[in-house]
Amino acid sequence: MRLATVEGPTGPIIIAERDGQLVHLHDADTRLPRSLVDILAAWPDIRPEVEQAAQRAAPLHAPPVRWYAPIPSPQKIICIGLNYADHAAETGASIPEEPVVFCKFATTVIGHLEPIELPRESRQVDYEAELVVVIGKGGRHIRAEDAWNHVAGLTCGHDVSARDWQKGKPGGQWLLGKSFDTFAPMGPFLVTADEFTPPIELDIRMTVSGQVLQDSNTRQLIFTIEELIAYLSQVVTLRPGDVLFTGTPPGVGMARKPPRFLKAGDVAQVSIERIGTLENPVISADND
Ligand code: ZN
Repeated sequence: MRLATVEGPTGPIIIAERDGQLVHLHDADTRLPRSLVDILAAWPDIRPEVEQAAQRAAPLHAPPVRWYAPIPSPQKIICIGLNYADHAAETGASIPEEPVVFCKFATTVIGHLEPIELPRESRQVDYEAELVVVIGKGGRHIRAEDAWNHVAGLTCGHDVSARDWQKGKPGGQWLLGKSFDTFAPMGPFLVTADEFTPPIELDIRMTVSGQVLQDSNTRQLIFTIEELIAYLSQVVTLRPGDVLFTGTPPGVGMARKPPRFLKAGDVAQVSIERIGTLENPVISADND
């Protein structure tokens, strides 16, 4: 199923895509949980009710006025660095022997079509197309062979990165460089895990203002989704709605000659096969 969170008449609502039309799930079944996190926590047991609601619900009268990220306020936003061998090479890093893990603050999250704000404090804001995994059933010490059962679904993500903060500050401020407000667009749809069978081999592309700047396939991941879930859950309890950015393929702006950073007026599109296209305009925060 394809599920999303959008603005409704009195706040966020959950919609599904049915035969190319958008339908409001609670129209058809008011007993369903009100948030996508609560639905995913009950997945896959709740799937039949959600599917029946999607079949019965009437289409939306008009396109959504606002798309939220599928999980608008995740408890954790866990990100993996250097998870494509050729991206590690282009940044001058060696291929990691264990996953390189960092986080973003929840205030980075924005939805489809919402603007990425270029902060006054950075001159090197870069783009990164990423496959994002949304956790369903939580757990600790999850084995790789069981890990796919803990995946609720997949969505498109953009790991926006201020390189002058990530690399140019004492100690390398990955957390801050990756955590300016609006630096984690996600969506528009979460596609449920039952639509896929591992290994996950999906074409992934970043297009900025019409120019394809990253073009790869998730089969190139050094650490697979299942290996990442097993690795991370050694340390933290994963919970429903936690999101995992799985790393970016080569072609980032910093590694280009000359470098190609995001500028006001750009439109960034992350496209992933069978999931969709996440589009965000880029604006300058200088005019507030
Ligand atoms: Zn990244």
